Amino acid sequence: MRKVAIYGKGGIGKSTTTQNTVAGLVEMGRKVMVVGCDPKADSTRLLLGGLAQKSVLDTLREEGEDVELDNIRKAGYGGTWCVESGGPEPGVGCAGRGIITSINMLESLGAYEESEGLDYAFYDVLGDVVCGGFAMPIRDGKAEEIYIVCSGEMMAMYAANNISKGIMKFAQSGAVRLGGLICNSRNVDNEKEMIQEFAKKLGTQMIYFVPRDNDVQRAEINRQTVIEWKPEATQADQYRGLAKAIDENKMFVVPTPLAIEELEKLLMDYGLMN
Ligand code: ADP
Ligand code: MG
Repeated sequence: MRKVAIYGKGGIGKSTTTQNTVAGLVEMGRKVMVVGCDPKADSTRLLLGGLAQKSVLDTLREEGEDVELDNIRKAGYGGTWCVESGGPEPGVGCAGRGIITSINMLESLGAYEESEGLDYAFYDVLGDVVCGGFAMPIRDGKAEEIYIVCSGEMMAMYAANNISKGIMKFAQSGAVRLGGLICNSRNVDNEKEMIQEFAKKLGTQMIYFVPRDNDVQRAEINRQTVIEWKPEATQADQYRGLAKAIDENKMFVVPTPLAIEELEKLLMDYGLMN
C-alpha cells in the first residue's frame, strides 16, 4: 500500500485535487482510502456526493471510545473509503490533534490491514507550516510519499518551501520523501516554467500542471468530482493524467528548500520576463 500525503497552503486546492485524482485512480482499478486531515472536514465531500460525514472526533465525542470501523469510514465513489478526522471547536485545543487520534484509531481497527486490499491511503492535510498534529503523517511515517499543491502565487510557493523544510527535517530519521509539486494553476504569468524551475531547485519535479477550469466549480456544485460529473470533460482528462503520473512516479527525494532571497529572485525572474 502506498501512503500518500497532500500538503499545501489553505485554499490552494488540496481537497479538490485529491478527490479528483483519487477518482482517476479508481478508474484505473485502484482501491483507495482518503483521510481528511483538516478541521474543516471537507476532504471527502465530492467522493461522498455531499453526504455529511461525521468526523472521527465527533464520533468519539458522541459515542465514546467503543467504535467500529464502519462508524468512522464511509464508502464513496467507486468503492473509496472516506474518513474525516475533524477537529476541536475553534479556539479550543490543538487542531492537529484529530489527525493523531484518527490515524491511531484507523490502525487499531484494522483499516490498513492487507485484507482491506488498499492500494493507496491519501491524507489531505491542511498546513502552511508543518507543525504539531499536522506534521504527524510525515513525522511518524504514516505517509511516505508527499505531494505539495502549489501555484505561481508567492504565498503558495512560500508555503511549499516551508513544507519542504518540514519534509527535509523528518526525512533524516524516517522514510518520508517528496514525490513532486502539483501546480494547480492560478493563471500567473509564466507559471508552468516557474514552478518547473522551483521544483528543480527543490530537487524534485513538477509532476503535473493542472489548468484552472470552471468545470471544477460546476462539478463541485453538483457535489461530485469532475470525473464523475462529466467524464468527457477536458478537465477530467487532466485529473486522469495526474492520477497516472502519481501511479507511475518513481522520483522520491529529500528536498532542498530555498533561502527566501532565492525564492524571491525566482518570482522576479519569471514575473518580469514578459
Ligand atoms: P484546500 O483544500 O487546499 O483548502 P480546496 O480544494 O477546497 O482547497 O479548493 C478551494 C477552491 O478552489 C474550491 O472551491 C475549488 O473549487 C477551487 N479549485 C481548486 N482547483 C481548481 C481548478 N483547477 N480550477 C478551478 N477551481 C479550482
Ligand atoms: Mg481542503
